[in-house]
Amino acid sequence: MKITSRSKLWSRLVVTLGTGLLLSACVVADRNMAAKQDVSFPPSQPDEIRVFYNATILTMDEAFSTSQAIAIEGNKLIAVGSKAEVLEQVGDEAIMIDLQKKVVLPGFIDAHLHIVGAAQLSILEDVGLTRFRTVEEALEHMKQVGQNSRPGDWLLFTNLDFGTQVSQFNEMTADRLDKVSADNPVFVLHAGGHVASANSKMIELMGLTKSTPDPETGGKFGRSADGQPNGELYGFAVLPALESIEPFQNFDREKGIKEVSAQWSASGLTSIVDAGTAALKADELDLLKKLTINGSLQQRIRAYLSPGRDDLWFGKRGIKPNYGDAKLRIVGYKVSADGSNQARTGLQRDPYLGGESKGLPYMSEEQIFDNIVEKSKLGFQMAMHGNGDGAIDNIISAVGRAKQQGVTVIRPRIEHCSIIQDDQLQELKDLDISCSFLIGHVRLWGSAFRKDIFGQEKAEKLDRTGSFERVGIPYSLHSDASVTTFTPLEMVEIAVTRELFSEPGYILAPSERAAREMALRGVTSTAAWQMMSEHEIGSLEPGKLADFVVLEENPLTVKVDSIGEIKVLETWIDGEQVYRENSRETN
Ligand SMILES: [Zn+2]
Repeated sequence: MKITSRSKLWSRLVVTLGTGLLLSACVVADRNMAAKQDVSFPPSQPDEIRVFYNATILTMDEAFSTSQAIAIEGNKLIAVGSKAEVLEQVGDEAIMIDLQKKVVLPGFIDAHLHIVGAAQLSILEDVGLTRFRTVEEALEHMKQVGQNSRPGDWLLFTNLDFGTQVSQFNEMTADRLDKVSADNPVFVLHAGGHVASANSKMIELMGLTKSTPDPETGGKFGRSADGQPNGELYGFAVLPALESIEPFQNFDREKGIKEVSAQWSASGLTSIVDAGTAALKADELDLLKKLTINGSLQQRIRAYLSPGRDDLWFGKRGIKPNYGDAKLRIVGYKVSADGSNQARTGLQRDPYLGGESKGLPYMSEEQIFDNIVEKSKLGFQMAMHGNGDGAIDNIISAVGRAKQQGVTVIRPRIEHCSIIQDDQLQELKDLDISCSFLIGHVRLWGSAFRKDIFGQEKAEKLDRTGSFERVGIPYSLHSDASVTTFTPLEMVEIAVTRELFSEPGYILAPSERAAREMALRGVTSTAAWQMMSEHEIGSLEPGKLADFVVLEENPLTVKVDSIGEIKVLETWIDGEQVYRENSRETN
């Protein structure tokens, strides 16, 4: 086995993204089908004013006001109000667009995802819980894929989950995957990303033998009784497999990003946070810049720099806070305090169910503190990944100490912020720390959390949107794509229902359900504030950028469990239509 420099790349991915980005790509199936672009509205002309009227417009302004018309000029909103009010302001030369009673909201924001990672892992096919209830069904599907494959094809899958998918057996070994294909390499990344399985062909390509030692960095190769690798890969043993996958090496990042960006537009996303820019490769910032300029990447990006490259950022590049423009801007710096709860690497106050382990600190309180002080003095906002209540203790303590020492800590935010104990709520409030929730955790892993990982009481402390609203702590929602690929409206639905995927009808901690208004703010106005951009996006108010979505129905009034199914009809960024639903009639 030869470990090349790419192993560093993948270990960076595992370590810096922490939640297990690797671990669970594309949780929701069939999202690809939504991506077809059909943009039919002509580009705006200079000095042209357009009035969109006959709509229900949820402005998401401070008063949560509703209006009926907006006017845009160039890339800016210039008027909001009733049709008569707007026309009075802009005159009667404006181009009039009848929205036929549809619903308009500010363009949606995903407050935390990974642009390059989401593109790269999209080449693995999802065989997880949302597509297959059992491991056997997933395997049956993989066999069909194998039967239709051609010589030399790579058969790559992700999200297999022994934690949530029912199964007669509890491991995916090479002999099982050889039935998918004996001649082509087969690779399955399990949900959570810390475990994978390979078939015999793949083992051969990786050069694994009886005498291959387990990785020194942690983890192991599963072996049969005679010592032969059996296809199971644990921890850092996943890396040599990833390195040997040719489609990753030849992956066209530009094409991949263009595709995911088009899918995001179809779900109404107009702005995204890249949580850890250049986690994979040093040139990512330049890549994002290039794709933003040439239009391949349609969303506005607010970037949080990945650690480990400070020499590049602050030395060679001389990057200052707010480097960039309204389209692509660096606003902060991201660190990770622990791993992920579903992989039992989130750092807890108390041990996980059925063991002694309290998880894994990726950084000590002291290291978090040092980062806060150093980056805050440079003027960067801090985004700090914390999943377990123990890691969140460390973050709270570090922010508190920095503030005590007179450091101006700019809008500190906790990423995922999964398990929050009652005593931590007031500390967050007192220290002005906001949170961004990976709300898909509730839907997909809520059942595993309450039955296997934490037990009922602690599982109910997951993603506490209800408590945050009562205490008055701002929160946003995020997909952490590719960890989940929920759309903004699906995230809103999860926050307001908290219904578990594996236990239909079961609501995890009913008192933690979000109010619709607040969940909607979590993908618009609060998210904009949290990413230092409330002066330009997040609400429909005069002077802000003309980013908005046209929806088929009103998320405030549809049945609560169908919010996620509301059709996005149009998406507009900078006053230009970037997405239009195929079946929509021409205006
Ligand atoms: Zn992340």
